[in-house]
Amino acid sequence: MRRSEVDRSKLSPMMQQYMDMKDNYEDCIIFFRLGDFYEMFFDDAILVSRLLELTLTGKQAGLEERVPMCGIPHHAYAGYVNSLVDMGYKVAIAEQMEDPKQTKGMVKRDVIQVVTKGTRLDEAIDAKNNNYIANIYDFEYCYGVSFADISTGEVYVELIDGEADKIIREVVKNGFREVIVNDKINREIVDILRTKHNVLITILSDLNEDSNYEYIYKDLEDERLVFTLKHLLNYIIETKKGDLHHLQKAVTIKSFEFLEFDINTKKNLELTETLRNRERQYSLLWLLDKNRTAMGSRFLKHNIENPLTNKKEIERRYDFVERLSTEFILRDDLIHELDNVYDLERLIGRITYGNLNAKDLLQLKTSLKSLPNIKDILEKLHFDKSIDTLDEVYSLLEKTICEDAPFTLHEGHLIKAGYNSELDELKAISSGSKDFILQMESEEKTRTGIKNLKVGFNKVFGYYIEVSKGQTHLIKEEYGYERKQTLANAERYITPVLKEKENIILGAEEKIINLEFKLFMDIREIVKRYASKIQRISKVISEVDMLQAFSIVSDSNKYVRPVLTTDKVIKMIDSRHPVVEQVMKDKYVANDIMMDKTTNVLLITGPNMAGKSTYMRQCAINVIMAQIGCFVPCKSCTMPIFDKIFTRIGASDDLVSGESTFMVEMKEAEYALSEATENSLILFDELGRGTATYDGMSLAQAILEYIHDKIKAKTMFSTHYHELTSLENDLKHLKNVHVSAIEENNSITFLHKIKNGAVDKSYGIHVASLAHLPDSLIKRADEILNIYEKKNVKKQVFTQTSLFEKDENEVEEKKNKIEEEFKKINPLEMTPMEALNFLYNLKKEVKKH
Ligand code: ADP
Ligand code: MG
Repeated sequence: MRRSEVDRSKLSPMMQQYMDMKDNYEDCIIFFRLGDFYEMFFDDAILVSRLLELTLTGKQAGLEERVPMCGIPHHAYAGYVNSLVDMGYKVAIAEQMEDPKQTKGMVKRDVIQVVTKGTRLDEAIDAKNNNYIANIYDFEYCYGVSFADISTGEVYVELIDGEADKIIREVVKNGFREVIVNDKINREIVDILRTKHNVLITILSDLNEDSNYEYIYKDLEDERLVFTLKHLLNYIIETKKGDLHHLQKAVTIKSFEFLEFDINTKKNLELTETLRNRERQYSLLWLLDKNRTAMGSRFLKHNIENPLTNKKEIERRYDFVERLSTEFILRDDLIHELDNVYDLERLIGRITYGNLNAKDLLQLKTSLKSLPNIKDILEKLHFDKSIDTLDEVYSLLEKTICEDAPFTLHEGHLIKAGYNSELDELKAISSGSKDFILQMESEEKTRTGIKNLKVGFNKVFGYYIEVSKGQTHLIKEEYGYERKQTLANAERYITPVLKEKENIILGAEEKIINLEFKLFMDIREIVKRYASKIQRISKVISEVDMLQAFSIVSDSNKYVRPVLTTDKVIKMIDSRHPVVEQVMKDKYVANDIMMDKTTNVLLITGPNMAGKSTYMRQCAINVIMAQIGCFVPCKSCTMPIFDKIFTRIGASDDLVSGESTFMVEMKEAEYALSEATENSLILFDELGRGTATYDGMSLAQAILEYIHDKIKAKTMFSTHYHELTSLENDLKHLKNVHVSAIEENNSITFLHKIKNGAVDKSYGIHVASLAHLPDSLIKRADEILNIYEKKNVKKQVFTQTSLFEKDENEVEEKKNKIEEEFKKINPLEMTPMEALNFLYNLKKEVKKH
């Protein structure tokens, strides 16, 4: 039975309440609180029972048929919500807003929050990653983008000019998993984001303004930014409902302040995860993440994705990294203190929003305790930012919160003795009365002479006196025992004195629990007022933590401080690929990357497996490391600050969109050529490989010429078209380099050493033989290669290598002579012996060559 088919007038009042609620939350699965369960009905029940393998039952709701229903126990709801949210659903949690015991008629229910991919706040979100929710506002000539991490309170805005393509790149690059859009948006964008990138999209155009949160956008100058941000806030407020004052003032992102690159570059360079299995291990992030706090790790990731372009700011970081390395004892102290700092950003988020527990405040306390020492160390290190120490918050928490407080807030035992006199009195009453009960047990034993008499407690009857069946005859009327419950082998009694004490104890306990909860909430309110201060402290700690990580990594791997120049010169001496080096250790061969003022393009040739791709990648990774303020894996490094990096490395088909490798390749090239400036870095790895030789080679050459003449960006271009190396003669800013290999006994050894000039031979077939393809196959490939080389040379129009000329003569000569011999003979007239002789001579002839 579906919800839409139901005659609502026949429904029970509770089910009508459900239907009304569902009208407002059509796109959510409603978890409808019924006593100890959250229930789902109708289509939700059918769907969820299938998704989570729950039993589908039914509920009488006034209709002939029962309404489909499934449910989960209220205390276990979090896991179920997480699973559904992970699958891309939105879950609305509807609570009972009144105590059913004290309500006549139907209990009021309301949605207290909606949980979605981008707005979740549970423990399941990854501490080392930001979880953003974004709004894209399509102004038809540009896009306003705003995004926030509700768990940390960070809020950003930016404007994106240009085509749909660009906005999609932006969403993918930032890893947005949930996006709100206005209804004017180009539907193509929605489709691509949904289907190709698995982004949860909500189309929403109404705007209910909430002036409570004006502080977030009031300093923004551009109205378009305010507009997109208001839409984002609107959605967040509607879904989260709680107090969101931990959201910080919006930060405007200006793209020129950061080194730009797109998601492909991020993937190709394996910045945050590896290409092969998308794991963090063996990425640049993995290598550099020696952070001690989750905040530091997130900040590092953010930096790797957004390196800086401001020379002063980058050098400020170098200075501090350098100082940490010199003052390594202070650095050790710092590390020790950072180890005590919890995820302050997320703690303050939970404290403000309200889904906190005592553990959160205890973690805050432990973190605050370290602040005076951290402040002190930072001063000694002359760090240019200082932190507040919030001593008053620390001492408040120290005074109040029990060290072993339970997980829930409704069991008491939250607040320490000595903080609140009313609470202390109640506790004295409660424990005094408990002593009285014990005392009473022993007194009653003596009075009645019943040795195994017990005083006990249960939830239904409260306190009672228990006497085993064999002893009940010893109870005299004058004792005043009143029988309350009969068990198989015992009777339970109460007395007026016992009931009187019970009232006091239970009354006190209930009061204690309520009072502790209230005191706890008051403390939370006080801490909340420090939210923005704590956020400021978090920022400083994140940065310090990241720089301490840089210092540690740089020391242990012998990285050097880069020299940033305004000349267009790259001079990386003995540079390495930091991650490959970790894996290979001493075997890694360091290489110079040299481009002087007049060299913009390095054309890299060399056999497969020689190290061309690694060489190119290591250049870009060195640049990124340098621009986040880290030292670099070189003996010395001079480089300019780059504005953008473009890469086309490797050839992977974009299966989802059904585009061929070649199409993807050309699109990437187009993107680079249209966006690059003379301050950019371009890496093109074997561009043009995906199409026929002449197509590919011509395109590669045209692209090289275009970059050389028009863009003038620093470019590394590897190719297997040796013909292109002759371009060096015509293009004066292009330089040939090659990776050599030595060939011995028909096998090949890679030296991984980059040298000037062009390579003259492709070793593809040798590499194949190293991979143990069958000998006969390798031989055949050699033959085919000979033929091809001959053909190629004939068609060669614009450039030649000496190798090919030599080859051509050899092959021609050999072929002519053998052909002539063959023409002379007639096999039908030969004896077997003559044929054998002929073959023998022929073989000798071939051998000579
Ligand atoms: P190409 O792009 O020329 O085919 P790659 O850059 O993919 O070659 O490198 C092939 C392999 O050679 C890498 O997987 C790596 O193990 C090794 N390699 C590359 N560069 C170096 C180097 N500088 N020192 C040592 N080994 C290297
Ligand atoms: Mg390669």
